[in-house]
Amino acid sequence: MRIAVFDTHQYDRDGFLECNRELGPGSGHELVFVEARLSESTCERAEGCAAVCVFVNDRVEASVLERLWAMGVRLVALRCAGFNNVDLGAAQRLGMAVVRVPEYSPHAVAEHAVGLILALNRKLVRAHARVRDGNFSLDGLVGFDLYGKTVGVVGTGKIGATFARIMRGFGCRLVGYDPVPDRALEAEIGMVYCGLEQVLAEADVLSLHVPLNASTRHLLNAAALERMKPGAMVINTGRGALIDTTALVHALRSGRVGAAGLDVYEEEEGIFFEDHSGEVLGDAQLAWLLMCPNVLVTSHQAFLTKEALHQIARTTLASASAFEAQLAGTAPKMAADQRVVLTPLGS
Ligand code: NAD
Repeated sequence: MRIAVFDTHQYDRDGFLECNRELGPGSGHELVFVEARLSESTCERAEGCAAVCVFVNDRVEASVLERLWAMGVRLVALRCAGFNNVDLGAAQRLGMAVVRVPEYSPHAVAEHAVGLILALNRKLVRAHARVRDGNFSLDGLVGFDLYGKTVGVVGTGKIGATFARIMRGFGCRLVGYDPVPDRALEAEIGMVYCGLEQVLAEADVLSLHVPLNASTRHLLNAAALERMKPGAMVINTGRGALIDTTALVHALRSGRVGAAGLDVYEEEEGIFFEDHSGEVLGDAQLAWLLMCPNVLVTSHQAFLTKEALHQIARTTLASASAFEAQLAGTAPKMAADQRVVLTPLGS
């Protein structure tokens, strides 16, 4: 199958080419790498392709899907877990199949969240910059023991549970909020499930691991931030819009939030994943956050490990093969949660 892989960087190409080779001669796919993100203006780059492969900031809205469908594209393969950027209703109406990678490495994201906590708490970035400048003083670098602190986990699915287990290893007390509590996790690490308000009130460190949808957009808004323990740390490796950035800026200014580690940002589209170092940053809120000594921003890189990239490529190519097999009338082999919307061609 000819697949246009949008928004690609060298690390995507390397993973996809390696996994495509692993499929063996005659079984691999024809991969067309496109650096641009998918949008109405870049759709035509998928000319001659039966599938497009997209990432978190590609715009897979109705108008884009309609144009892709008219061009003969029948499969949208997300090389990520979240699918908030796809108009699933439009895909279903058209009969376009949509697949994703429900799980690649929960460890990659959970470990990055922990990395943000450690770096913020022990002020590692500031300390490194200081000693490189020949300044070996310790003033302003005081952190706190994670041992004995309360960590709030919002969303205890694959990544949240992995994160919770790591934090348990630090000797933290875990409080969790999830409409579907994981009773095995509760028994394993003593996680206490409670309402969101209680999690907000008790957590010294609060970490978000929920998907972005209508009910979780601005989950941390001004009112929620106001309920947090004064000086608590907020970590977001989920999706940027889980937090109302304007409210977070106010909470950081007032000291209600003591520190923030953000791997995702509400307005990251068009900024993250690209080199803007020679330009003036047009986003004043992001510029402000980047100036704060108690804020650490990474460019949506929590997934970026060798293991995760390999698994992403492997699952995506396997989904494309399964889709092809379905079209050919041979039994598809695809896990239920890998399919978001899967409608056979021609139906
Ligand atoms: P998952 O489906 O395994 O877990 C999500 C959990 O959130 C589920 O247990 C669900 O019940 C819970 N949930 C849903 N709505 C909720 C709500 N309103 N309040 C509390 N809990 C709620 O997903 P996962 O694999 O753990 O991934 C979580 C999210 O992490 C993804 O949706 C994606 O947006 C994000 N993610 C980010 C990166 C990155 O690089 N930063 C990488 C992968 C995933």
